[in-house]
Amino acid sequence: MNNNNWHNKHVNEVTGIYNVDLDIGLSKEQVQSGADRFGKNIISTQGGETWYSQLLKQFNQPLVYILLVASVAVGFMGEWVEFFAILGVVIINAVIGFVQELKAHKAIKALSSVSGQNATVIRDGVRQQINADDLVPGDVVALQSGDKVPADLRLVQVKDLQVDEATLTGESVPVCKQSNTLEADLVLGDRSNMAYSSGLVTYGTAKGIVVETGDRTEIGKINEMISSADILETPLTRKITRFSHFLLWIILGLAGVTMLAGLLRGLPLNVVFMEAVALAVGAIPEGLPAVVTITLAIGVARMAQRRAIIRKLPAVETLGSTTIICSDKTGTLTQNQMTVQKVFIGESVVSVSGSGYCPIGKFTTNGSEIHKSELPLLDELLISGVLCNDSNLIKSEKIWNIEGDPTEGALLTSGTKLGFEQSHLNDVFPRIDTIPFESEYKYMATLHKADGKNIAYVKGAVESLVPASSVSLNEKGELVPIKREMIMKMVEDLASQGLRVLAFARKEFASTQNCISHIDVDENLLFLGLQAMIDPPREEAITAVAASQNAGITVKMITGDHVGTATAIAKKLGIVKDEDCRNETVGITGVELSKMNDAELKDAAIKFNVFARVSPSQKLDLVRFLQAEGNTVAMTGDGVNDAPALRQADIGIAMGISGTDVTKETADMVLTDDNFASIEAAVEEGRGVYDNLIKFITWTLPTNMTEGGVILIASILGIALPLMPLQLLWINMSTSVLLGATLAFEKKEPGIMSRPPVPSGNAILSRGGIRKIIVMSILLIAAVFGVFTLIMNSGRGIDVARTGAVNMIVFGEIFYLLALRSLRHSAFKIGFFSNMYLIGGVVIMALLQLGITYWGAMNTVFQTSPLNLSEWGMILGVGALLYGTIELFKKVTQNQTKGQAF
Ligand code: ATP
Repeated sequence: MNNNNWHNKHVNEVTGIYNVDLDIGLSKEQVQSGADRFGKNIISTQGGETWYSQLLKQFNQPLVYILLVASVAVGFMGEWVEFFAILGVVIINAVIGFVQELKAHKAIKALSSVSGQNATVIRDGVRQQINADDLVPGDVVALQSGDKVPADLRLVQVKDLQVDEATLTGESVPVCKQSNTLEADLVLGDRSNMAYSSGLVTYGTAKGIVVETGDRTEIGKINEMISSADILETPLTRKITRFSHFLLWIILGLAGVTMLAGLLRGLPLNVVFMEAVALAVGAIPEGLPAVVTITLAIGVARMAQRRAIIRKLPAVETLGSTTIICSDKTGTLTQNQMTVQKVFIGESVVSVSGSGYCPIGKFTTNGSEIHKSELPLLDELLISGVLCNDSNLIKSEKIWNIEGDPTEGALLTSGTKLGFEQSHLNDVFPRIDTIPFESEYKYMATLHKADGKNIAYVKGAVESLVPASSVSLNEKGELVPIKREMIMKMVEDLASQGLRVLAFARKEFASTQNCISHIDVDENLLFLGLQAMIDPPREEAITAVAASQNAGITVKMITGDHVGTATAIAKKLGIVKDEDCRNETVGITGVELSKMNDAELKDAAIKFNVFARVSPSQKLDLVRFLQAEGNTVAMTGDGVNDAPALRQADIGIAMGISGTDVTKETADMVLTDDNFASIEAAVEEGRGVYDNLIKFITWTLPTNMTEGGVILIASILGIALPLMPLQLLWINMSTSVLLGATLAFEKKEPGIMSRPPVPSGNAILSRGGIRKIIVMSILLIAAVFGVFTLIMNSGRGIDVARTGAVNMIVFGEIFYLLALRSLRHSAFKIGFFSNMYLIGGVVIMALLQLGITYWGAMNTVFQTSPLNLSEWGMILGVGALLYGTIELFKKVTQNQTKGQAF
């Protein structure tokens, strides 16, 4: 089949090819045979770089150039051991970096597919959600705004459908779709009766038949869907790359100084050159890029365990600096388990008993029960809630549950409680058209066939429906002018109890009118009443809000719901405090915001913590204003229109369960459980990752500064080098892998959520951190020279003295590592054995040092010689002294900075 021609085929021809009825869809057997024939709907492309280009990239780093040049130069000088050793280090490093990157890519790819795509299909006459991978050609798919088109579809029914096809055509403006047959000779962008896989539905609804799946789709053929999720660059890695470039020049300069000093002393060129090589290999932090990648990858895995899937790596870091979390209310802060508790008809309130979605409960007013058909107004209110509804109420294993939107589910339950069954009503009043719910309009409408006329039922936000209504019914069922003030007062009252209030209305049309649009229902509605439902706050969100506030993070609720409901829930969650409510209003609405100028908006963005009935464009403004004040903003969103605000936020967060594909596509992070508590958990993990990165950098730099410093000073003073190039390479390689990398596994520090966020623009190292690196480097340089000189003076020869120097650096590093396990507390407070990777690394490192000191073969290669007990005593004693100094340093600086890092 030439799939270029699908747009040129009539709908009947397409349904004929697949032998499918649009209302029934494929049968189980047809799906099975389609799956056998076409396989899964998966695009098999890898995208991005090949493995060899990734491997070669490891060598394309300035610091590696120096090492390569050094190895070639020593090769020319005939120093083959050094030549192979340096080359070996470069290769080992490249392989470690390559394997780590590969693993990180894989992990992130796997995670981003967790937030995989669903598709709504009609199969065997039942509308259902399936994994988009299981679609087969011939499947009838329903699209609505927010969906990602799951396969190539020939559209058969279209209602105001607009699709963003930028991935495929590069056209950034969404295109309008229709279902008529088109001429054959059209380019992809003009085939308006097709929706292509990867397109994003920005508006409207449609039905389409799957015509191509997997690699046979247009996007599959292009074969270059590079996932935006697998970029391994973050602000920190960029800073480190810049730092490496800077270091390159410093090291080259110092190597030049070393050579010059040697030449001035009249040393032969090859000796001078070896000194310069020693300085270069000593000063280069070879392990830095690999360990940063490992630490970030571990952070991603830890966050995934806590239900936050990172889609873009920089978010791991940025999370730690979050100062404001802007969260949706419904479902994120609340349970999204709705139950109608009160209904309002005429001028009175009726209570509804029962809990959850179980449709058993009573309607009572003033203590007496109301039955079906006793109050026509109550009947019609409940009927409208059942008819204007896209969810299903299902009972499985004695438990009642809903499929679809919980708000709508609650309405099915309340209707069924009085005896209005969805399937029966749908037969009596068949639906002929729908205006789907969009948060922009805040209502939904359905058109139904009734006796000799068509009736539209509308349900939605009170602010949308009450102004559009002109009449209402009194309890006797007579038409009366609508009493808007009385209704709004009732809404305030219900909302202040934390109830979510929905309004209902109807409008009659001639039986000839078979479709409706927004214009048809924006005036002259007949107001039927209100249904008010509870949506209790999530218990864990209450704790998480408190933990966030304790961590210096402000939580703001940005919701589409009524300000009264939002404020009442915000109070229960602790987002606003009772004392704040006493003095002034704590919530503000979208309407109030729309009347403000920029300066007022900015003030409001900071001052208020509850934003209600906010439009998506106002969400975007709020993020911008908060960022302009220097905040790092995390923001949740679920609807298609939230995408710009999510993109603007420092961390855009999408909901894994209720979120649309469009928001998931844009987001930096997806919550698999839609729960606010998972955001707080991710922030906590983000802080842990940041801490561990800082620890590693603070740990690794003194090694390199000491090694470079020792060589520089020795060559300027004209004394024998305390460390040889091969010994330096040994120290650098073994310690960065066995010691430094284990810091990535360090657990989060106690009190990590009781300190303020790290400002995002901050330099990697604080002044205190730099001070610590300098102090440690100076102490270590002094220790190395001290040990080297004492052993030399004792007459035990240069090889023993150098062995002493090597061990001094390594054991100095071990003690420093133990002290740096926590930036604030002593190793004993955080638990000595809480990081077994680190303890294991230290033990192996110590054994290797015994090997290099006492094993003949290693002695020969590394020009080392056994040490005696008093020499060991000296090394370990100095090491312990270094440990004590850093612990003391931590204590003093911690007091100065009131608990902040260094
Ligand atoms: P949040 O923004 O915190 O998720 P929300 O669910 O109230 O809260 P929206 O989904 O934008 O936000 O809904 C806005 C309003 O539209 C709701 O308060 C309600 O009045 C109305 N509404 C919500 N869902 C429906 C629906 N399925 N049909 C009709 N009206 C709805």
